[in-house]
Amino acid sequence: MKTRKKSRSLPVTHYASLPLDKFHEECGIFGIYGHPEAANLTYLGLHALQHRGQEGAGICSSDRRHLYIEKSMGLVADIFSEKRLRRLPGDIAIGHNRYSTAGSSVLKNVQPIMVNFSLGSLAIAHNGNLVNALELRKELEENGAIFQSTSDSEVIVHLIANSKAGGLYERLVDAVERLKGAFSLLLMTENELIAIRDPYGFRPLSIGQFDGAYVTASETCAFDLIGAEYMRDVEPGEMVIINKDGIKSLKPFRPQKYAFCIFEFIYFSRPDSNIFGGLNVNGIRKELGRQLARENPIDVDLVIPVPDSGGPAAIGYAEESKIPFEFGLIRNHYVGRTFIEPRQAIRHFGVKLKLNPVRKLLQGKRILVIDDSIVRGTTSKKIIKMIKEGGGAKEVHMRISSPPTIGPCFYGIDTPTRKELIAATHSVEEIRKHTTADSLNYLSLDGLLTVVPNPSDYCTACFNNNYPVFSSSEKTEQMALF
Ligand code: AMP
Repeated sequence: MKTRKKSRSLPVTHYASLPLDKFHEECGIFGIYGHPEAANLTYLGLHALQHRGQEGAGICSSDRRHLYIEKSMGLVADIFSEKRLRRLPGDIAIGHNRYSTAGSSVLKNVQPIMVNFSLGSLAIAHNGNLVNALELRKELEENGAIFQSTSDSEVIVHLIANSKAGGLYERLVDAVERLKGAFSLLLMTENELIAIRDPYGFRPLSIGQFDGAYVTASETCAFDLIGAEYMRDVEPGEMVIINKDGIKSLKPFRPQKYAFCIFEFIYFSRPDSNIFGGLNVNGIRKELGRQLARENPIDVDLVIPVPDSGGPAAIGYAEESKIPFEFGLIRNHYVGRTFIEPRQAIRHFGVKLKLNPVRKLLQGKRILVIDDSIVRGTTSKKIIKMIKEGGGAKEVHMRISSPPTIGPCFYGIDTPTRKELIAATHSVEEIRKHTTADSLNYLSLDGLLTVVPNPSDYCTACFNNNYPVFSSSEKTEQMALF
């Protein structure tokens, strides 16, 4: 399983100055309707989605009379004991895995968020980032709303509670129409499960069937674990209502040009998942590697991946170039989450804790190392040093299976500020020098777009600063922060 493996926390001071803990909400969501073991299955679903967030997790269930909630900081398997799962009765449940970096690592931000309001009880789990959360929050606070957390997802709950529209669905539509940005949402009441995907479709969300029940999940790897069958994606701009009458689809939101997050394919989703219309992530990553080999050939003795993120692309590169593939770096899977360690000195140590070169394979050879992306450039520098010094390689070349990352993400992928993105401020040659690679090449944006069908359906803002949605009043503020 791919897990977060690099030290990428921003300094605590940076987040402390932000009114909302936005810009770093990579999350996983799972929901189920109509199964007596709803909470247990949600626990398993969250376990499969653990790579999407390791800061905290929660499950809310319904026994058709009340909602019950359990949530904590930490990993899914550590949070939910059998005893705790027994406190989540009923046949409907939603769950959430939260990812966050330093500065907002607090229980109050862990989801689902559960509230009681005039229409009854409601719980919500959100994956994605809203770009107008700050603006909406200010407005709601001016009208008397009191916020419990710094999570932008809480804004959604207040909008629903404050809506003057009639029933729940009308209020949901009313609230969602005010949101700008990325949101794959799961909501539940005592009697139903509702899934909503923003009209751009930034984050994935799928529906499946299991044992007579309906399931929804950020990624299909969660369906595989419980043996559920994938039915289809929740479509961009769709609201799916699942209750005693079955499954109903509404398209109440103004359509937008699709903007599926291309970085889900490059790094974030698990290779065994099929996303954005059933495309297999592993297959796309291998194709990225093949395209990289066509664009940037080189004569070397071995192709090795940076584990685990460079794996499929390195296999694709090796297949296309006919250069032997080996696992030249071995990963220790039992290292704690060093990425949350805020002290620079220890963060750097993290790479050494996690990876070790196989000297017998690398010694005296010309090595090509493949990774999916360079963000700050810290990881690649250490890896190249490790392959040269620890591994004894004669030459170390690097190829990256995505274009240079030049723009921060406002829609839910954890990228640092623009000035911290090495490719935003340095040329490829400068980055090569910084990493000490003998050569360095990235995949071109055009090359990347040849690999996905309907390339204009994707958001590529992190590679070309072409942002599909901004809140007009926040644009200046956000750009200034970044
Ligand atoms: P850096 O050391 O900052 O250049 O980080 C590069 C590494 O971070 C690559 O190996 C990527 O696989 C990984 N990476 C890319 N995007 C993310 C992300 N959003 N969160 C955590 N790790 C990432």
